[in-house]
Amino acid sequence: MVHVGVTLNENHYLHDSLLNGFPCPENPSRLKKIQEYLKYTGLLDGVRCHIYNSEPATVRDVLRVHTNEYVEFVKSCTKDPRLSPGKDVYICPSSFDVLLGATGCVLNAGDLVVTGKCKHSFALIRPPGHHAGPDTSSGFCIFNNSGVLARYLQEVHGLERIAIINIDAHASDGTHAVFEADPSVLCISIHQDQSTLYPYKGFIRDIGVRPALGYCINMEMPPESSNPEYNVFYDEVVDKVLEKFHPQMVILECGFDAYHKEALTKLNLTITGYYQLIVKLAGKWNIVSLLEGGYHDDLGLLTSVVLRALAGESNIKDDVDLIDLLASRHAKTRKDFNNNLSLLKMRLEPYWDL
Ligand SMILES: [Zn+2]
Repeated sequence: MVHVGVTLNENHYLHDSLLNGFPCPENPSRLKKIQEYLKYTGLLDGVRCHIYNSEPATVRDVLRVHTNEYVEFVKSCTKDPRLSPGKDVYICPSSFDVLLGATGCVLNAGDLVVTGKCKHSFALIRPPGHHAGPDTSSGFCIFNNSGVLARYLQEVHGLERIAIINIDAHASDGTHAVFEADPSVLCISIHQDQSTLYPYKGFIRDIGVRPALGYCINMEMPPESSNPEYNVFYDEVVDKVLEKFHPQMVILECGFDAYHKEALTKLNLTITGYYQLIVKLAGKWNIVSLLEGGYHDDLGLLTSVVLRALAGESNIKDDVDLIDLLASRHAKTRKDFNNNLSLLKMRLEPYWDL
């Protein structure tokens, strides 16, 4: 049994679009559902998983990734609900404190693993972060949590090679904007075909810029892709690149909107799909998982599946049998996937010898 550290920003409910008078899918009920479900499962028993309290991050931590002007502007938006630092982003009076609380949980989740207290950890936080760039925010994201953690691990703990893997259905465009020219941080984003989904960035052809060509990897999964496609991609690209890069830490941008019940996207991962990916990753690397998107009712269930996978449990039962078969029989999905995989391998060939 592996002991998994869990952190959670208790003040997240103060970041709520309803306080500004409108609804938004990224709202406090997301984490509330997760907390209630985890309580029901008894997973947070202190043996398998344990909740660790976290201190808020400092502005200095955030400035390792974001510009001072941007951070000041985010802070100024808390004074006026009509102001926003980006598209599809809202700011409430307490949002700045919530953001520092979330980032603090992320840094603590990193500390727990890098100091050996836990083999893996999961920061259950909101708002998400992977669309936020150094001076931009969009898609509910304001501070780039994984970026701030990677820079912290480098500067404070002296890590030299960090991998950031995005399994949210949306491309990790903000994270790639932070690290596209930095070969010390390998970024891999597995997301829905970018001609069909926001942020319409992160195409297969985008592989980073000098001196980090090949260190930003974008795999576009055709709509309807499911467990078999994800497994093939993991085995043929992610696993091989990670083996060659040999990260000292893997930061997982863990979005739950690639799930077959997600209404905002068109991917078909099931419980088994998530479980298999996490087991493969956690079997070889130390994982700090960060909650990104996901807006359906099974967020608690999927969080528990990821925690069980990190803890080394094996008795995971899927709730569907047909999704794998349906996707595998969907000739167009498989054909498009194979095309995308070949294209990506060709793009990466000079850098990773796949
Ligand atoms: Zn997403």
